[in-house]
Amino acid sequence: MKDVRVRFAPSPTGALHIGGVRTALYNYLLARKHQGKMILRIEDTDQNRYVPGAEVYIKDALKWVGIEIDEGPDKGGPHAPYRQSERKNIYTKYAQQLLNDGHAYYAFDSAEELEAMRNRLMKTGVNPQYDSATRIEMKNSLTLSEDEVNNKIRAGAPYVIRLKVPKSEQVELNDLIRGKISVNTSQIDDKVLMKSDGMPTYHLANVVDDYLMKISHVIRGEEWLPSAPLHVLTYKFLGWENEMPAFAHLPLLLKPDGKGKLSKRDADQMGFPIFPLNWTDPHTGELAEGFRERGYLPEALINFLAFLGWNPGTEQELFTVEELIEAFEIERIGKAGAKFDIQKANWFNQQYLRSKTDEELGQLLITDLKSQGIDCENEKAYAIANALRERITFPSDIASLGKIFFFAPKSFDEKIASKKWNNESIAVITALKDEINKTNELTVDTATTALVDVTNRLGIAQGKIMQALRMALTGGASGPDLMVTMALLGASEVTSRLTYALNTLEEKAS
Ligand code: GLU
Repeated sequence: MKDVRVRFAPSPTGALHIGGVRTALYNYLLARKHQGKMILRIEDTDQNRYVPGAEVYIKDALKWVGIEIDEGPDKGGPHAPYRQSERKNIYTKYAQQLLNDGHAYYAFDSAEELEAMRNRLMKTGVNPQYDSATRIEMKNSLTLSEDEVNNKIRAGAPYVIRLKVPKSEQVELNDLIRGKISVNTSQIDDKVLMKSDGMPTYHLANVVDDYLMKISHVIRGEEWLPSAPLHVLTYKFLGWENEMPAFAHLPLLLKPDGKGKLSKRDADQMGFPIFPLNWTDPHTGELAEGFRERGYLPEALINFLAFLGWNPGTEQELFTVEELIEAFEIERIGKAGAKFDIQKANWFNQQYLRSKTDEELGQLLITDLKSQGIDCENEKAYAIANALRERITFPSDIASLGKIFFFAPKSFDEKIASKKWNNESIAVITALKDEINKTNELTVDTATTALVDVTNRLGIAQGKIMQALRMALTGGASGPDLMVTMALLGASEVTSRLTYALNTLEEKAS
């Protein structure tokens, strides 16, 4: 394989969509796998859509997920600048080359004239395109005399430069994911290459930069597939056909039910983020919560995203970035859209959280408790983290589930209270409270023995009273292992909580 040089080429038109992070990731994995280079190129030639802050956001997001850039606006590199708005002269030069070689032409049509042409064609049932058939009726350097063209340009008349797409030729490309693609040029219109503001369009800038930056693989979203034949044509006209990059158009990200493309609105409705980091829309002031702020770990998000469209062909699901780099192959990316299953993202998050040490998780609890003015010794926090580790999806769950160890319940789960608070549970809990009251040190073992003794003595099966006991101790219906919970609470706290529950709930039961 030739030197692998890939690029992530976002337009700074808003926050980076999570699909963009996946595109960046696949580029990154390929680059690292082949000791290649990962380039960040900011495609900011559409000044109407430019959003302040978007470029910084994109860079911050890539940094957060751990995608390192080898060449880019901040890093520099042999092909700087990497921001297209700073490369205007370069595009002008190649547009001029296309003009000189007869592959492009000036067009002076006003918006009204273009509109009239479209309306006219639509009436006759023809797909309205500016192409070999229609260009002869329009105001351009193919229909006007050389003098007229020169005069207009000299007089400062607004113009664009269009690609002169041949009437009917097959354009072919071999997409690494989709295989051979063949399109007739009659389907392609004479795309604008240079706009009247002197800026190139995406198409020209993208092709010129991919060539000059020696890009080996263009890995990008499926939405760019229709543009690929036009790009191939442009490479040909510029004489770069042999240096053309390989193309790989990634599958779409679909809604969780697989029905249609995933949009921000879908994500909002279903209550999950769509952007990697918090983003405040500068126009509306609206804040969209990011994956980071929602509590997703970057390594979990990366692992999840890697599997949205790619799979290693084995059963293994948990991959470190190093393992992903090792296993990644473009050939294993599928064509079919990938369902964005947020439950799977949560599962990955759980797995990565569980792999943290008790100390790491315990520190999260300590920090949270401190913010509420509560001190907790390290050892206790680590033990609580250990008890909760299987039950957490987000780091903040440690504090929300852990609060049962610091706050005695004031109210009780109503369902459990009405179903399970009865003479039997009252009898066991009363006896257990008396038993524990006599104990100095409550451990998992002493708690277990006490419960076994009491239930045996009263002849009541443990299974019948466990939910009531949990409710009496914590107020809730679920939580970590009960014996561990009791040991962590300690004898006097258990006694006082059980006493409170008996006093508060007893009346209802009778
Ligand atoms: N600027 C384009 C985008 O924002 C890049 C497409 C490409 O990678 O060619 O998606």
